[in-house]
Amino acid sequence: MAGLYIHIPFCKQACHYCNFHFATSLQYKPELLEAMHLELVGRAPEWQHQSFETLYFGGGTPSLLEIPELGSLLHTIRQQYALSPTAEITLEANPDDILEAKLLEWKQLGINRLSLGVQSFAQGDLTWMNRAHDADQAIHALKKSIQHFSNLTADLIYGTPGLTDAQWIQNIQTLIDLGIPHISAYALTVEPKTPLEKQIRLKQKPETDPDQQARQFLLLVDMLTQAGFEHYEISNFAKPGFRSRHNSSYWQGVSYLGIGPSAHSYQPPVRSWQVANNRQYIEQIRKQIWIHESETLTGAQQLNESVMIGLRTTEGLSLNAIPPVVQEKWKPLIHRYVTAGWLVCETDHIRLTNTGKLQADGIAAAFFMEEGDQIN
Ligand code: SF4
Repeated sequence: MAGLYIHIPFCKQACHYCNFHFATSLQYKPELLEAMHLELVGRAPEWQHQSFETLYFGGGTPSLLEIPELGSLLHTIRQQYALSPTAEITLEANPDDILEAKLLEWKQLGINRLSLGVQSFAQGDLTWMNRAHDADQAIHALKKSIQHFSNLTADLIYGTPGLTDAQWIQNIQTLIDLGIPHISAYALTVEPKTPLEKQIRLKQKPETDPDQQARQFLLLVDMLTQAGFEHYEISNFAKPGFRSRHNSSYWQGVSYLGIGPSAHSYQPPVRSWQVANNRQYIEQIRKQIWIHESETLTGAQQLNESVMIGLRTTEGLSLNAIPPVVQEKWKPLIHRYVTAGWLVCETDHIRLTNTGKLQADGIAAAFFMEEGDQIN
């Protein structure tokens, strides 16, 4: 079982907080798509033994692709890979690209899940982020999309400096009222080398406020769980039956193949990735260099990854797979965090409470093993 990720590295304009790989010029689009076809064909032999249960078009902005471009990628994928007939096939789309005709064509191509980058319904907030769509377009896109895609998810961002708690509540309530069955919500993070990081450094924009982010996270959890959503991962909420199969498989350590510039692949214990540059990607693929760089995860690194991922999920981290020597070492830590009210310890699982989730990364890091530590 495996997942397939296709990275479409083009966007209409740069959102100021974004550190994904994308270009705002379509200059290399034909060559780049040709290279992606070559990569799909060139790497297929290595993945022949796998059945692909999920396919995810992410980016960038996959909804910028013309229908024949998307159809042709899907055709190559179906020819070269064992894509399950019941596969979840997700397309990320921006609200300004949603047209009824496009929705129908995506459905005909076999897309069965749509992910809309809404981020906010507050116009000042959207302008602050430099999003390409406005608040009315976001509402219109969601209303149209839900008519054709029952499996629909929307992204929101909280903790932006201008976003009041009242506006945040309104953002969440709008998605609940529209009947959207899956929501991903992320705290605004200031990533290196983004326009936002520079604007904050030059004092053109204020820094983020951790208290506001914590408050808005707790409001989010409260409203969505009351509305019948499962909080199945720190940033992800789903009505029963609507969890993302693709993202869930990442969290379960399933192998995945990533195609396109900057895309990562994982075949335990090896992680590999493509260069995050469109021109260099095209050149390397033309030379049949199928992998830009790779690393083999050590036992400690694999354990640390499973801690970090496990603690983010609602099920928590299963202790069954953790060697007794490590569990012994963790005992005082578990006791300390349980006493602080940040962790719950069940027979064979540890999981974070809602207040624990506010500092998930720090708590996970405390459990990390160092190279050279005894882990079995
Ligand atoms: S549309 Fe998405 S990928 Fe493109 S710049 Fe904005 S956040 Fe980044």
